[in-house]
Amino acid sequence: MAAWKLSKGTTRSYNDRKMGRPRSGDGAGARPARKEASMSGSERQRDAGEALVKKEVITREELDKARAHEKTSGIPWYRQLIQHKKISFSVLDDIFRYEIYPKSVREEHSALGRTLVEMKAISEEQLAEALKEQKRNGRLLGNILLNRGLVTGRTIGIALSRQHNMEFAELEKTPSDREALEVVPENVARRYQIIPIRIESDRLSVLVAHPQVRESLADLSVLLNKRVHAIMTNVTNITEEIKIRYRMPRSKGIGLPAKKETAPPPKPEPATVEKKRKERAKEPNLKKEIVTAIMPEKGAPMIEKEKNGKNRFEEIAEQASGVPVMKLVSTIIEGAVNSGATDIHLDPQDPEMRVRYRIDGVLHDVMSIPQDIEPAVISRVKIMSELDITENRRPQDGHISMDIGDMEYDIRVATLPTYLGERVVLRLLDQSSVLSGIRDLGLEPEDEKRLTKLVEQPYGMILVTGPTGSGKTTTLYAALNQKNVMTDSIVTLEDPVEYQLSGINQVQIDNDIGVTFANTLRAALRQDIDVLLVGEIRDVDTARIAIRAAMTGHLVFSTLHTNDAPEAISTLRNMGIPSYLIASALTAVVGQRLVRKVCDQCKKEYAAPKNLIKAIGLPESTKKLFKGVGCQTCYHTGNKGRTGIFEILEVTPEVRRMIASDAPVEEIAKSGKMKTMADRCRQKVKQGIVAPEEFLRVIRA
Ligand SMILES: [Zn+2]
Repeated sequence: MAAWKLSKGTTRSYNDRKMGRPRSGDGAGARPARKEASMSGSERQRDAGEALVKKEVITREELDKARAHEKTSGIPWYRQLIQHKKISFSVLDDIFRYEIYPKSVREEHSALGRTLVEMKAISEEQLAEALKEQKRNGRLLGNILLNRGLVTGRTIGIALSRQHNMEFAELEKTPSDREALEVVPENVARRYQIIPIRIESDRLSVLVAHPQVRESLADLSVLLNKRVHAIMTNVTNITEEIKIRYRMPRSKGIGLPAKKETAPPPKPEPATVEKKRKERAKEPNLKKEIVTAIMPEKGAPMIEKEKNGKNRFEEIAEQASGVPVMKLVSTIIEGAVNSGATDIHLDPQDPEMRVRYRIDGVLHDVMSIPQDIEPAVISRVKIMSELDITENRRPQDGHISMDIGDMEYDIRVATLPTYLGERVVLRLLDQSSVLSGIRDLGLEPEDEKRLTKLVEQPYGMILVTGPTGSGKTTTLYAALNQKNVMTDSIVTLEDPVEYQLSGINQVQIDNDIGVTFANTLRAALRQDIDVLLVGEIRDVDTARIAIRAAMTGHLVFSTLHTNDAPEAISTLRNMGIPSYLIASALTAVVGQRLVRKVCDQCKKEYAAPKNLIKAIGLPESTKKLFKGVGCQTCYHTGNKGRTGIFEILEVTPEVRRMIASDAPVEEIAKSGKMKTMADRCRQKVKQGIVAPEEFLRVIRA
């Protein structure tokens, strides 16, 4: 697709915000030479991958795995690595800057030749020889001189430092202070390619291998809240040197008490305190759950009323932090993850609390919890999700982040006080599902091709329709994954934001404070955005603005609650949107459902009754169908896993004319030659992927 346009300011915005550094002064002029290379986009991406492996930012396996997934899902490898937090945008950016477009580095080195002659390190003749070789093989001048044994790394370092008016310090004679290493996390040192050596009040001195590194030190300075002073040094592999320096003190066993001894604060500087506080805020809040447990302030008024209540809560909190209850709760959560559940219901009933998992859209009873530990279990979940455990009369929303196996899970927790006690539902958001591509959705090849093509359009509106829980969000994310986060500026408006998408600005809709779809969309349109995802079109205002956005050069994705794709057109018409506007804005409507798949472990062929075959609309000649007879893997349901069923109404010129002339939606669908969800699902019944009963449950419902 398009060539890399990394200099475009908007593509950096996510990262900038995350790193807390301003970008305003960094105009496009700061990065020249970008567009000069003649390599194709994919070639350059490939080289960037190799460069990342070479620099040990990622491993060969990680790159291979991402490339393999790119082949099956269509999601660019770097997009996956960014999502998995293996690389940051700045790393990728640097790779493109230094490895793929080394023009500035080349210029640097030709100037280096002259400096070395001036320093009398080499002769004019030696320089001429080296330049001749450079013309032949295009290698860097410094490396050529090094290879010929004419200069040492130290001499080159000194020459570069002179050229750039920098200090020079020899690597071997410049150790790193423990304090400096503690202030700069190792991954930050690697990312910026610096070796921290010492701190004097608010000045951090670092060794660098290339003068160019200084360009990014302004960012580091904001990040660390210190002035950063760069000193040139002679080092061949700085990544390796960073590793060594960070490993060394750690093996000597530096703990926190040692830090206090070695770094006695000269005077209580308010700035330092402020910084420490900030630092602490950045750290993952491991201790917070304990703090929450012993912090009764929030519920104080209520507690005063019932003294006994207070003791009871303390007791429960104590119980909730006891090993058996903690173990029980983590077993429940892990069990849900292992069985592929999407939700956990803790349902207070008489005489016991039921624990149920929602698997493939259906609830299953998995265990019950005795009444006497029920409050402790509920409290434990509330502590984990940072909710107020003293509040059990009002609904609360919280959130848990948890690593289970290799995966990171985000769990949304919602409580609802009922007559029998608090009902708690935990919604498991598997972050890896963010990385599904269009090819993972279960589309028929023909539809897959069509949707991919539609998503590639630079503007227009694509609507995904279906009831709640039909997988609309997954489809939209898959579509977004197809877009290039580096060259396009992408903003989503969501209610709620459930998954974090790297490289994409996500806005949380909050009607209570006036952050509505319509308002935010209006504001977003003033922000030079290429791709907009509007979580849902619920009202006329949002519909109007979204349509205007699609007509003014934006690609707009959104969802509508309709039964099928053609109905979206009548819904928009009923909202009062003029037909000619719908016709010009709309690119396609996708209708979808999720259906359960027949369990592979217990799939059996059987002679299907005639009336069932007729109800599904299969030809009368059909004799055999498939279903799962039930086994352990599928909890005796006969179904395991789900797949999407889609219908795509593409707005062809003919369809466009018909929409504009107010033709009935049935006729529009016909002229669009749309294969309906029923058609697609029937196909899957025939292939034995979906059971006949499931067809009737979902499609004819
Ligand atoms: Zn089975």
